[in-house]
Amino acid sequence: MLLAGATQLRGIVLTATVIDGRAAAERLRHRVAARTAQVSKEGLVPGLAVVLVGDDPASRIYVGSKTKQAQEAGIRHFDHRLPETATTAELLQLVQTLNANPQVHGILVQLPLPEIVDSAAVLAAIDPVKDVDGFHAINAGRLAQGEAATVPCTPLGCLILIRDVLPDLSGKRALVIGRSNIVGKPMAQLLLQNNCTVTIAHSKTRDLPALCGEAEILVAALGRPRSIKGEWIRPGAVVIDVGINRVDDGSGKSKVVGDVDFATAVTRAAAITPVPGGVGPMTIACLLLNTLNAAIRSRFGADAPVLSASLSGPEGG
Ligand code: NAP
Repeated sequence: MLLAGATQLRGIVLTATVIDGRAAAERLRHRVAARTAQVSKEGLVPGLAVVLVGDDPASRIYVGSKTKQAQEAGIRHFDHRLPETATTAELLQLVQTLNANPQVHGILVQLPLPEIVDSAAVLAAIDPVKDVDGFHAINAGRLAQGEAATVPCTPLGCLILIRDVLPDLSGKRALVIGRSNIVGKPMAQLLLQNNCTVTIAHSKTRDLPALCGEAEILVAALGRPRSIKGEWIRPGAVVIDVGINRVDDGSGKSKVVGDVDFATAVTRAAAITPVPGGVGPMTIACLLLNTLNAAIRSRFGADAPVLSASLSGPEGG
């Protein structure tokens, strides 16, 4: 989904196509809602359990958006709010209850959890078939082995956007900057599965500008505001900016910017995601997709045709 014919955005003269993540996410949500309505008629109402611990304002906003969009797509949601003082044992108990609940097809534990909680133990306790965040080691392992897996929502959203502007990824040189378990590593695996030649960069990587200069696809997920400069980017590259960084806007207020210096990158890239309005909206849409598909698999079996990770058909069985 592109902002066709756009020549200016926030006062910046554009040469790249700006990828409209909000419109793309809306398309994906519509597909999820349509298929959800279909399976609901057959008595299968996809269910998403969301666990929020404590009172972190950002987490509350994320969880609010997730539950609202789930509801709008026809997905039943089960909210579990625990106090900041919740223990690992209490969370493990809750996860076990949700694992056993047949109305719950997806379980999302909002991160970060309070420091006293053993986050790894809680995430590992989630039944891999209900792991709609795709963080469980079983899903990460399956993805790495090229087997069917639930893929983490943010890299899945990135892949959908990349494929929408570049349908054939085969042989493309891709650079993923960042090697976290939730973004960088699964992103690299997905690009590899799509036959890209993938390089993964991290904080110890030497000569990042030179690597950027070779990349036909560049995914920036390093969490460093505007650190990827336009002059590093290969002319004609597809640039996906995952970063969400809060910076001072110069007037004492804060604003959100990406990891890529948009103003300079937009004059080199062929297509680029803005921040905000790029990858972010796709993350929640992919959570809904993963929940619907987890429900379909739970009812019709692991090999059942699921809704495809794309912005238009095929719709699965
Ligand atoms: P993270 O866990 O902090 O990982 C950051 C990665 O970037 C690490 O692998 C780190 O390398 C690497 N890195 C840091 N500085 C670097 C540098 N100067 N050059 C090259 N690599 C560098 O972050 P994350 O969770 O993956 O998130 C990355 C960004 O995406 C953040 O801004 C986050 O807010 C955003 N995010 C957005 C969404 C969304 O929905 N849009 C979702 C998740 C995350 P080392 O491994 O060597 O430390």
